[in-house]
This record gives sequence, C-alpha cells and structure tokens, in this order.
Amino acid sequence: MPRRLYRSRVLKGAPGSARLAAVPKEIMPSSYQCDCGYVAHFFENTIRELKRRSLRKRQWLSEGRAGHEHIVVFEGGRMTTVLCPEERRREAPPPRFTDKQGRYLAFIHQYTALHGVPPAEHEMQHFFQVSPPTVHQMILTLEKKGLIYRNPGAARSLKVLVPADQLARLI
Ligand SMILES: [Zn+2]
Repeated sequence: MPRRLYRSRVLKGAPGSARLAAVPKEIMPSSYQCDCGYVAHFFENTIRELKRRSLRKRQWLSEGRAGHEHIVVFEGGRMTTVLCPEERRREAPPPRFTDKQGRYLAFIHQYTALHGVPPAEHEMQHFFQVSPPTVHQMILTLEKKGLIYRNPGAARSLKVLVPADQLARLI
C-alpha cells in the first residue's frame, strides 16, 4: 500500500503544556501512532537527522494541517512522545464570552494598542455610555471569567487574556 507522505516541518516554539500521549508507538522506521489512533508518517532521513540532533537538544516535528498538527517529540536520540491536537483542544477550550463582554474586551484591546496603556474605567463608561457601576461590574465579571488580568491596586492595569484574533473589531 503506498504511504501518504505529509509535509513535515520543524516547529520553532516548544510544544507547550499539552498533555502527552500516554503510549505513542513507533512504527519502524519513521511513522508514529498517537493514542487517538492517528499515524504520522515522515521521511526516514528526516527522522534519522532529528534523532541525531535530539542527542543534544529536544527536537520535534509536526504533521497535519494547521491547528490540527500531531507533534512528535524526540529527546536523547529517540521519540519520547506524541502531542495530540485533540488533547491540546481539550486543554485550551476557546474562551466563552457574550457579545457584550466581547465588545468590552475588544475596546480594552484596541485602546491599549492605540494608546500604549489600557483604558481607565471612566473612558469605558464614556465609550459605552453606561454608568460607573455598570463598567465596574463588567470588569469584575471579565476578571472572574479569566478573560482579563487586573491589578486592583493600580490604575490602568487591565490586560486582555484572550488572543487578539478571537476578539471582534469595534470599528
Ligand atoms: Zn492524536
């Protein structure tokens, strides 16, 4: 049966905090099976080179389309684990927020990008045409949901914790 060879690439960043596949299998000579059943195929010379380099420093290869890559990790001259995209998705669910909360997040993000500092509460109050308690309550809610960071002791300390590409554009 002809093997399908996917384009593989070396990732620049570390695989991050994704949980590792418990029992990835090495299918000789250069294919790897994830816990989920998926098999990633690589070129043999790629794997040989990666294993060699992994004697000095951890190496990894990814296979699959963007956002759904399986990442095979090599250390000490051998494959140590496979990171499954299903696991990564479970560990980092997309943040959930309402449209209104999203508008506040987008405002904080865009204001910060424009001015170099986060907005003060009275500026949010002015922008959204709401009362001070409404703005303050919203900030507490966003903080409680882990969508923003805030230092209660400091003015202009808001920081949006949602990736920019998940935020709506206000203008
Ligand atoms: Zn998998």
